[in-house]
Amino acid sequence: MAEELKQLKLFSDVAAMFAPAKSLYEAGCCPCCLLRFLGERDCQIYQKSAEELQTVALTLCNQPQGDVADSPTGDTTCVNTDDIPCIACLGILQHGCSEEFLEKIQKRMEEEGYKSQLFSLSLMTPIQLIVREHAVMLFLRERFSDLYTGQSIDKVTSMKDVYKWRCGPRLKDKLNMEYHHQIESPFLIQLMFQHKETETECSFLISACPKVFPTNSRKRKRDSEQTVLNRTSVTKAISSLSESKFMSLVRCPPEKVDTMCRCQELTCYHEALFVAGRYNKYSRTLSQTPWVVDGERRGETSVSELICTRIKAMFMAQEYRFSSAGREDVDVRTLGRGRPFLVELIQPHISDVPLDKMKLLQQEINSGTTDIAIRDLQIVSREESGKLKVGETEKTKSYSALVRVEKPIQPDDLKFLEEIKDLKLAQKTPIRVIHRRPLASRDRVIHNMSGEYIDSQHFTLHLKTQAGTYIKEFVHGDFGRTQPSLSTLMHMDTDILELDVESVDVDWPKTIDE
Ligand code: ZN
Repeated sequence: MAEELKQLKLFSDVAAMFAPAKSLYEAGCCPCCLLRFLGERDCQIYQKSAEELQTVALTLCNQPQGDVADSPTGDTTCVNTDDIPCIACLGILQHGCSEEFLEKIQKRMEEEGYKSQLFSLSLMTPIQLIVREHAVMLFLRERFSDLYTGQSIDKVTSMKDVYKWRCGPRLKDKLNMEYHHQIESPFLIQLMFQHKETETECSFLISACPKVFPTNSRKRKRDSEQTVLNRTSVTKAISSLSESKFMSLVRCPPEKVDTMCRCQELTCYHEALFVAGRYNKYSRTLSQTPWVVDGERRGETSVSELICTRIKAMFMAQEYRFSSAGREDVDVRTLGRGRPFLVELIQPHISDVPLDKMKLLQQEINSGTTDIAIRDLQIVSREESGKLKVGETEKTKSYSALVRVEKPIQPDDLKFLEEIKDLKLAQKTPIRVIHRRPLASRDRVIHNMSGEYIDSQHFTLHLKTQAGTYIKEFVHGDFGRTQPSLSTLMHMDTDILELDVESVDVDWPKTIDE
């Protein structure tokens, strides 16, 4: 037996499969489809070059048939070149796997600037291929019942698998990205193949299978026909038909076609990426997110824009969403190690950004402004990203507030503050936010406090509180809406002049910059 045939593992002995091979070839199968329908499942076979596969197929077909010893070899079997569309894949495993087409994909990737470590391939193929493959199978079962009884289309290697085996490794070299058949990447290259010439080949199922397509879903219009015919309904309809019924309705093997199936759409999709870090805010005139009042923009920029604009550009993302562990008012600074934040990047084109590049990005953001500074900038997994909001109310935050008092004080007047531990507050929704938050009362805890005397009119109040405590309202009392307040504790009017967040005690994301 020829050397190239020895490595094949078909439904039966290779020699027994010569006759079906020849029939498949004559029916118009391409080398890949021929091997698929003969039962070959080894990916390495399909990874051979188009020429090698052609040789394997031709050698199979030109072997002497059956036991007739004096059958001529190398006889008249027609040669299916890659220019003649295959009856089973309509050319997806021919033109769709060609160098020419893969170079097109490569060019597109380069134009759009996609860069990822790993990619996956996804194929959308015309549904009429389900009918065609079934027709090939029934043809084989009828002609070679001894070899094909009990074999079904499920045992035939799928066209999609063969496509990925053939094209994945070659694209990997072209795109300079990793590819593993079994590993799903967050970066997906999606190919949508269509074939106009055979588009209506499933239509007969609508009248042939009234159980799958009840009358009320059987509209006359063509576009509605396209909507009831989908992968699931077509598969279901085919399996509801007996073999003889199917063969009376469809040509087995299917008819040859004139045109190759073409990829109509190439879409790239990258799952959202998450970038986390911490920010300090040094300005008392900068809002956290774009500040719009009655449709009018206030302030030139915002914390989120200062952080995200460059991140979005670096990852070539379509859009971003900014979130953080709590937020501060426009006039509040955030000091210490800063406030954790998360940027969700929608449809990034680049995902392969090493840590040293992230460091550069961080430097770039920091050198562009004195209003904010960021640290610990890093890519986090989707799972990690969820931790930003976990246990939000159990977190603690430390503040310092510049307080003005109504009556003159002495340093000793502040001592009592240190003795107060875990003070429970009832805070009604503050008047200043009542227009955008529902009216409610929340209970919060001030874990500890201390006062740092400045002069008889001023002191700095240091507090450690449960996250979500309204600090300004605690200091001035908000017309009695916060109980108790610093004002009630000191028995005089107290007002807050400045507020700083000293620390947001969240151990996330992991510390990178000491
Ligand atoms: Zn084919």
